[in-house]
Amino acid sequence: MDRLQRLRASMREHGLDGYLVTGPENWRYLSGFTGSSGALVIGEKAEVLVTDFRYLTQVREEAPGFTVRRQEESLWATVAATLQDLGLKCVGFEAEHLSVDDFYKLKELLPGEILTPAPGLVAKLRMIKDTGEIERIRQAVAVADAAWQEVLPTIRPGDAEQDVAWRLEEALHRLGASGTSFPTIVASGSRSALPHGEAGDRQLMAGDLVVVDFGCVLHGYCSDMTRTVVVGEPTRRQQEIYHLVLQAQLAAIAGLRPQLTGREGDALARRVIEEAGYGEYFGHGLGHSLGLAIHENPRLSPRENTVLAPGMVLTVEPGVYLPDWGGIRIEDVVVITESGCEVLTASAKDLTVIF
Ligand code: ZN
Ligand code: ZN
Repeated sequence: MDRLQRLRASMREHGLDGYLVTGPENWRYLSGFTGSSGALVIGEKAEVLVTDFRYLTQVREEAPGFTVRRQEESLWATVAATLQDLGLKCVGFEAEHLSVDDFYKLKELLPGEILTPAPGLVAKLRMIKDTGEIERIRQAVAVADAAWQEVLPTIRPGDAEQDVAWRLEEALHRLGASGTSFPTIVASGSRSALPHGEAGDRQLMAGDLVVVDFGCVLHGYCSDMTRTVVVGEPTRRQQEIYHLVLQAQLAAIAGLRPQLTGREGDALARRVIEEAGYGEYFGHGLGHSLGLAIHENPRLSPRENTVLAPGMVLTVEPGVYLPDWGGIRIEDVVVITESGCEVLTASAKDLTVIF
C-alpha cells in the first residue's frame, strides 16, 4: 500500500476526513517535497501541497502527484482556504509540528471547530522503512564508516576535539553527505562522561577516553555511529569497562528480533551492564529509530512498549559514564529482519589506542 493510502486508512480509524501535515520530514515522506516551508492538506480524494513562490518549480518536480497551491498572503490563509474548498469537516493536525501561535492563526481563519489534534499519524507510518529507505540509510551509514576509516588513523594526542570533529565533517562532505545529522560529538577525558558533549577546544592527552559520535545525511536519510578510543596505553579499568559495553552491545545485537517490545530490546544490553554493577551509570535508553530524522520512534528504552517489527531501523548504543573518570559508548545502526537484526555499521569495534 502506498504512503497516502496508509495515511488515509489511519485517518479513517481516527474519524478524520482531512489531515494537515506541517512537519517537514512528514511532508517529504508523503510527497517527496524537500522544501522548508509549506504544508500538505490530505483529504479522502485530494492531496494538496501549499507552498510559496520560491518552491513552485521545485515542488512540481519533486511532488508530481500533488496539486500545488501557491501561498497567497500567508501560509495559513491559503491552508484555511484549501480546507474550506475541499469541504472538510474534521481535520486532524500534527500537534507536535504546529506551534500554538500558528494553531490560533489558522483557527481564526476557519468557521466552526473543524481542527482536532491528531499527532503522530505520519510518524507511525515512518516507523517501518521500505526497501528504498533502508538502502538510503545503508548508504548514509557507509559514508560515516568511510569517514571514520579515513580520520581514525589521523587522530593524535594534542588534537583539539573540534579539529577531530572538523576532519570528520570534511570527510563526510567529501564522500557525498549533504550535512551532518546532528552536531558532532567529540568528548575527551572527563568530558567523555557527558553523553552529549559537543566538540570543544580541549586537547586530547594520554589517559583520555574519547567518545566520538557522529552521523551524516545522504539523500535525506540519516546515519549515526559512536566509537570510543583511548589515548595512550589503556588502564585495566578502561579495558574492563570497554569490554563490558561491547559485550552489552553484542548481546543486544544477538537478541534483537521482531515481537520484542522496545523495553525488552533495551533490557538485552541493560541486563549485562547491571549484572556487572554499572546499571546506574547507563542513564539513557539503548537506542532510537532513525530515518529522515535522527531521532524517530520507536525507541529501545525501559519506557517503550512498541513491538519491534521487520523494517524498523534502530541504533544500538549502550554506554557507561562515570563522573570525573570518563565514559564509553559504542553505537551501530541495525535493521530488524524477519528473524533477528542486521548490523549496517561496518567499522571495527575493538578498542583503538591512539599514540
Ligand atoms: Zn550517535
Ligand atoms: Zn544515536
